[in-house]
Parts: sequence; structure tokens; C-alpha cells
Amino acid sequence: MLIDTHCHLDAAEFDPDRQAVAQSALQQGVGMIVVPAVHRGNFEHVQGLAGEYAHCACALGIHPLYVQDAQPQDLDVLKSLLESGQAVAVGEIGLDFFVEGYDRERQEYFFIEQLKLAKALDLPVILHVRRSIDIILKHLRKFKPRGGIAHAFNGSAQQANEFIKLGFKLGFGGAMTYPRALRIRQLAHDLPLEAIVLETDAPDIPPEWVGSHGRNSPGQLAGIARVFAEIRGLDVRQVAEITTNNALAALPKLAHLCTPPKVLH
Ligand SMILES: [Zn+2]
Repeated sequence: MLIDTHCHLDAAEFDPDRQAVAQSALQQGVGMIVVPAVHRGNFEHVQGLAGEYAHCACALGIHPLYVQDAQPQDLDVLKSLLESGQAVAVGEIGLDFFVEGYDRERQEYFFIEQLKLAKALDLPVILHVRRSIDIILKHLRKFKPRGGIAHAFNGSAQQANEFIKLGFKLGFGGAMTYPRALRIRQLAHDLPLEAIVLETDAPDIPPEWVGSHGRNSPGQLAGIARVFAEIRGLDVRQVAEITTNNALAALPKLAHLCTPPKVLH
């Protein structure tokens, strides 16, 4: 069984055929899909998906690129939903200093408040870490959440090791499938196996064979796992076992939700 540790299954791209997409992923061996929220307006939707599909779980949080419209009272809503116990992590949270025009202070305010929530509730975090890794590491050292996942990791080996020291796993997905993505493929090759989890980030970051005009979906995790297996010189079944165990270690509440996969033929 594979676990897609990051998929925006609630995205509008899946409105026409969400159920078929979820079912197809299951048939391709993706026995669990983690759907992170990005703002208060989709908390209900991602929770609904986790309720509707046995092989979906949700995380709840406010994404750094959505803090412009977020209000401090959204954090109260988030807190009470996290306390109700359905979410497996606080996410997707973090900092994004890549896209210009975003309010850095506002991003840091919401990030820090959500780290405090994660710490208080002893929940892992799912992190968005674009052009912001060192600042994120600084906040993690200060607020000490229990770990989690640095999603779509694209930093240096040294930064990866800092995350690992803090108890984090690193998420690899579509970006690794491009032969010219030498740096990220080197990381996928070199990092300790127990530090890696797989993700599609669907509908974003399509793998090479889907291409920028196609729609990425959680079922693509099977191909991503094959690429990772090739990079590491492993059998894809070993990759499934190792990365699933890593995902369960990063997001312990997932273990209660993982049912044995149905017959997949
Ligand atoms: Zn995401």
C-alpha cells in the first residue's frame, strides 16, 4: 500500500469526477490520501472528504498563500476543529517567500500561531517550505512541534538533515520524476530512506508523463513510487512498505484510519 501524504483532492479541478479519482487511486495501490486544507473556507470540505472516503484523511490549517484573507478568529475555528480530533495534522502551514507581493509578517503571524496550536495539541504539522526553509527551521526549533512533513522538499542536503534532526520527514513527488531535476533526484538518492515520504500534491506538480497540460491525480503516486524505486535501486514493493511506515511515523493518527487495501484488480 502507498500513502499519498499530500493531495488537494478538494480542489475544483476534481469537481467533475472526484469519486472516480479517489477510487482509481485506490485501484492503483494508493490506500490512503492525506488532504490538507488551505484556508477556513475549505475546512468543511476536506473534513467531509475524510468522512466520505475510507481511504482519505484530512489535515487542517491555513496555507501561507491564503493568509491575506484569513482573520485571527479563523485560528479559534481551527483550534476547535483540531480538538474535535478528526484531523491527522495541522496543515498546510508554512511560509512562502517565492511569490512576490505577499505579506511576510502576516505569514509569520499565522505560521507561528499554528505552530503553537500544534504544540499544544501534540499534533504533527504539514509544512509548505518555499524559499523560506531557514526561517521555518528557526521557528520549529523555538516552538518545537512533534514533527511532521516538509512537503515538496526542494532544499539542500544540509537543510534536509536539519529537518530530520527535528523529527521531520521530507515529501517527494512529481518534481523528482523529471530527468533534468538533478539536484532533487540526488537528494532522493542520498537521504536516509526512513526520512522520505511520497506525495502527488495533485492537482499541482504533475509528474513528467502527465506534463504541464495534464491533470495530476493521487493515482499518479504509483508512478512516482516507481521512479523513486529506480533512483534508490529498490523494488517498488520495498518502497511502498518503507514510505508507508514513514508516513505513519510522521502522522501517527493515520494508523487508526488505514484499513487493509481492497483487492486491486
Ligand atoms: Zn499543498
